[in-house]
Amino acid sequence: MRSFFSRKTVVLVIIFIVLFFIYFIFLNKTKPNQNNIVTSSIPKYEIIGKSVEGRPIEAFTFGNGNTRLLFAGGIHGGYEWNSVLLAYNFIDYLNANPNFVPKNMSITVIPSINPDGVYKIIGKEGRFSISDVPTISISEAPGRFNANGVDLNRNFDCKWQATSTWQNKIESAGNAPFSEPESRAVRDYILKNNPVAVIFWHSKSNAVYASQCKNGILPVTLDIMNAYSQSSGYPAVKTFTAYGTTGASDDWLASINIPALTVELETHGTIEWEKNLAGIKALINYFETNNTLK
Ligand SMILES: [Zn+2]
Repeated sequence: MRSFFSRKTVVLVIIFIVLFFIYFIFLNKTKPNQNNIVTSSIPKYEIIGKSVEGRPIEAFTFGNGNTRLLFAGGIHGGYEWNSVLLAYNFIDYLNANPNFVPKNMSITVIPSINPDGVYKIIGKEGRFSISDVPTISISEAPGRFNANGVDLNRNFDCKWQATSTWQNKIESAGNAPFSEPESRAVRDYILKNNPVAVIFWHSKSNAVYASQCKNGILPVTLDIMNAYSQSSGYPAVKTFTAYGTTGASDDWLASINIPALTVELETHGTIEWEKNLAGIKALINYFETNNTLK
């Protein structure tokens, strides 16, 4: 009898221990998830609009602070696919470094403003990798325009004209300012979320450009142009003079008093991550300490 009871007791103790471990494993699995909901390690994902061909235009936001920085790639689609990959690389970095965004700030990344133009070259929607990129001739600017043949970076409401220029070429700027769904999506997102600054990544002029519409360059735009330039190594250029541009996205932002930069990568095929990370850090540093400035 004695040995029977002790065996029963042993079995009960084992069952109890097993249940105890299952309970702890369950706790460990659920607790971090509950915490993650309130930390910045999970981005807020939004579809801010659709392209002409119905592809989603995505935004990923990290952090909960009121001082929002917005970074956007791919307004020139597959022609400047490396600006899209740079933006996705930044999203990866933010996912891997949840403490990167200071408490009073948030960072939104719109990786691909012109997804139809990207699809035309890469043949993929959303995230892609460098191995997906075919060898292309850039002379004919494949994938630069949206599916209506409009240069989206000529479709914003600053000095807009129906036709504009790119290098020595004439190109369509749409039927009116914001005639295209992609530029409307970016406009509406910006007006709703009121970022302190917006950075557009392009390629390949190897420079950081300030923005202006009719009232000159905003003082903060000059500050952040210099900050990004000095830390990244891209030369700072106050005014783009190579050819006349109308309806540019960053110049529209200047017209509504939001500092904006165009950052041009050095080539059409490189991400230049370390240089841009240094530039991003300089902007965070600037706005972390000047968070009421615009
Ligand atoms: Zn461009």
